[in-house]
Amino acid sequence: MKRNKQLLITAFVVLITLIILVLFLYFFKNNFGSSEVIGNLHTHTTCSDGTESYDSMIEEALRLKMDFIAITDHRYCEETYKNCIAETRLLCIYGQEINVRTYENNVQKDMHVLALDIPPGNTTELFPEIFSDLQVINVRNNIVASDPTIVVKKIHELGGFAIAAHPLYSMFHISEYYLNSSGFDAMECFKDEYPDIVSEQKLVLSREDLPCMYSSDAHKVNELKRTYSRCVIAVNVEASGSKLKFDAIKKAILEGNCKRYE
Ligand SMILES: [Zn+2]
Ligand SMILES: [Zn+2]
Repeated sequence: MKRNKQLLITAFVVLITLIILVLFLYFFKNNFGSSEVIGNLHTHTTCSDGTESYDSMIEEALRLKMDFIAITDHRYCEETYKNCIAETRLLCIYGQEINVRTYENNVQKDMHVLALDIPPGNTTELFPEIFSDLQVINVRNNIVASDPTIVVKKIHELGGFAIAAHPLYSMFHISEYYLNSSGFDAMECFKDEYPDIVSEQKLVLSREDLPCMYSSDAHKVNELKRTYSRCVIAVNVEASGSKLKFDAIKKAILEGNCKRYE
């Protein structure tokens, strides 16, 4: 009789422990788990050569259920900047696409660099001033530097994130030398649709330790869905109630956890 009672107590204790463990794991998974977020980190508006307003781009991003978007016009626009940092419908990351111009045997050659998430205070008329000491000149609101390394270094000094924009696209080709040595955080990758680019990309990725990210360089609303990223971030945004931050996306890019959304 006494033994049965002891067994019953033991079973009860085991059951309670199991329930506590399941509840704890459930809580842990929801609050400290991961979530998937989607978005596009390379877009243009009428601030530069895009055909759509900031609002039209955001509305399309919301229609596509994007969690984040970066506005990366070729110049700084006060109004777009203010709209972006005050955006509440999704995470808007303010950026700029910088032109790096070199001359090889007197032939002009341009490369594009995405500068993302420059902290407020460093953004106003960002590049013309900052680069003036490096003999970088501002031509038609486009920044011209002689070497992407200078631009990437400056972006990092300002606390930003530097991505090589469409680096293997022939018109704005960035050599493997610069991809390797300029300090880029990531590079834009292509998939399938451009076989020539993809074969060079495979080669570069096999030799260089540079994470890929996918975006579409959207100049129109209907280009926003062409290519974008699905990132697995380390925070469960919904369950924890915390706001999505670019830091979580940056980490996902650097760890190779951003894939092309399909
Ligand atoms: Zn570009
Ligand atoms: Zn662009």
